[in-house]
Order: sequence, then C-alpha cells, then structure tokens
Amino acid sequence: MQPEIKAFRDPELALALVQKIKKRASLKARLMEFCGSHTASVLKHGLRHLLPEGIEMLSGPGCPVCVTAQEDIDRAIALAQLPDITICTFGDMLKVPGTYASLQQARADGCDVRMVYSTLDALEIAGQNTNKAVVFLGVGFETTAPTIAASIAMAKDRRFSNYSVLSLAKLCPPVMKAMLDGGEIKIDGIICPGHVSAIIGSKPYEFIPSSYGVACAVAGFEPVDILLAVDLLLTQIESGKPKVEIAYGRTVSPAGNSHAQELLSCVFELAPARWRGVGEVADSGYKIRDTYKDFDAERLFEIKTAPSKEPAGCRCGDVLRGVIKPPECPLFGMTCLPERPTGPCMVSGEGACASYYLFGESTGGK
Ligand code: SF4
Repeated sequence: MQPEIKAFRDPELALALVQKIKKRASLKARLMEFCGSHTASVLKHGLRHLLPEGIEMLSGPGCPVCVTAQEDIDRAIALAQLPDITICTFGDMLKVPGTYASLQQARADGCDVRMVYSTLDALEIAGQNTNKAVVFLGVGFETTAPTIAASIAMAKDRRFSNYSVLSLAKLCPPVMKAMLDGGEIKIDGIICPGHVSAIIGSKPYEFIPSSYGVACAVAGFEPVDILLAVDLLLTQIESGKPKVEIAYGRTVSPAGNSHAQELLSCVFELAPARWRGVGEVADSGYKIRDTYKDFDAERLFEIKTAPSKEPAGCRCGDVLRGVIKPPECPLFGMTCLPERPTGPCMVSGEGACASYYLFGESTGGK
C-alpha cells in the first residue's frame, strides 16, 4: 500500500473522527453519497454503523452504468447486432440487462463485443481491424469523458476511418440540480464525487449551498476521507452555514483540471441526456461536436430498437434517487443477485444494490 494512502486508512485517525462526529448525537441529518464508489466504501468499512443514530446515509445516482437509460442499453445492443461492427466496452456494461438481451447474450449469439480497459485498447482494436467498424460505448461521467474525448481527437489525428463513439457520457452537477428541484427527498448534505471533482473542481457545486441550502463536501474514497467529509458536512449543517468544502485536497482543487476541461469542450458540446430513474436532464450529456461528426456512432449508424421496458419489479430508479435503500426492493437477494442481476444497480461495482449485497447489508438500516 502506498504510504500516503495508508494514512487515510489509519484506524486511530478514523476513530478520532468518529468520536468527534458522535459528539453531535442529537443532530439529525440525511447525507447522500452521490458516488457509487463512496457507497461501496461506506459499506465495506462499516461506516454507517459508526455514525450516531440521527445520521442517515443515502446512496445516489453516481454510477454511470446504473444511470444509463434502458433505451440506451437497448441501442447499444442493437448497434452490436449490425453487420461488421465491433463493440468495445468496459466490463460492467456487458451484464446489464436490456429489454430483450444483454451485450453478453449478444456476444454469445455471435456479435463481436469486446471488453476493454481503456479507450486506447479500443483504438488499438480499430487499428488492427480496418475491415470492421469499431464502436466504443462511451459510458461515464466527467472522470471518463476526457479519455473518450482524447480517443476521438487521436482517431482524427491518425485519420482512422473505422473508429467511432456512441456517446452516453454524462455530467453530474445538472442531475444534482434536477434531483434537488424534484424535492422528492430532503437532503441536508451531499458527499460530492471525488474523481469527477478532480476534473471539474469544486466550484460547479456552489449553486447547491447558495440556492438549495444543502451542505457539500468533496471526498476521497478511503475511510478517513469519508469520515472527514461527514464531519465537515455536520459542522456546516449545525452552524446553518452550508458551503462547498474539499476533504480530498490531495486530488481536488476548486478549479479542477484545466487541460481535461479544454479537451472536453473541444470535442463535446452539452446536450440533454436520459438518466435511469430521473428522466431527461438538460445539459447533462456530452454530445460529439460537428467537427468530430465522422467519429459519432449516433450519426454514422441507423440504430433501430423495439420499445424499451425496464425489468419488471426492479426499483433501480428509486435506489438511484435515494428514495429507497436496496434491501427495500422486493427482488434484492431473492431473484436479483450479482451473478443473475435483474437491474444495473446489481451489476456494477459502483452499483448500490451490488455493494449492499456484497458487504452483507441486508437491511435498509439507517
Ligand atoms: Fe433493481 Fe435488483 Fe436493485 Fe432491485 S435489487 S433495485 S431489481 S438491481
């Protein structure tokens, strides 16, 4: 383990923060871990049970695979079924059930679907298979979007004529706004995503405390990072002075990564995007600009699908909005299991249902 990471797993430091947090035993607050990796870390380290009774932790929509709309999953599968196409995708997408099949089933039926670890792998496949159209499924948030943008820019520089991207990438602040506007659940504080914030910085969250009075803290993914963010949030809530703070200073700055931001705005423009559980959200999607239209699978291929339908009984949408906790879904751990998922939240390592199941949280608890 890297020495600098070891400090953020230090049990004594964690315990000191827990003691500090426990001094607010009378405080009642609902905190949302926007990011699925935060939910996984909270559950893995048993942090929920270390917090006072009145502090409730909710998971949010911060899992890119989980929030990909059923229509878009179906479109990706329909694309894979077209002749002479190779689909490249990150592993999590393979098992997500579409309305009629999954990408894994499409592969078993003879479609050329390959799992890759980066967009560079997809470019390499395109370079080696010039007789096939290679399409990368661009699922991700601001963290992954720069690597997708870079692959498009590289494909243009290298004059690739067989590489394109189906851009399903999304931005986080607009969906946070949509959820707060919806007002479905009361949230007192948000643990803002760490990796996303490394790219966009912490400034884009400033509308949350100023317009909605909700506390914000950007957190890393180790137990001490998360406890530090919880402590900052509770201090803000207690004082009645919400703001945006950074509890992940080793990676995140207020302004973020300007090089990545330039790359994003060079290749993409903002467009509406469909989110599972939330619906269409204005300016929350990365659309490929006209300058790069030759690398946009959306424009290159006619993708036809039958009407989409979410899996019967699956409550992923409610989980993603923090309305229910995964064990409240009647299918959780019954017919829906990681090896046989009914919905995407049980597939991805960032999915709340998979995290609850994996770390033995069979009750909603607090
Ligand atoms: Fe969907 Fe399964 Fe989670 Fe229920 S337990 S919400 S079916 S992923």
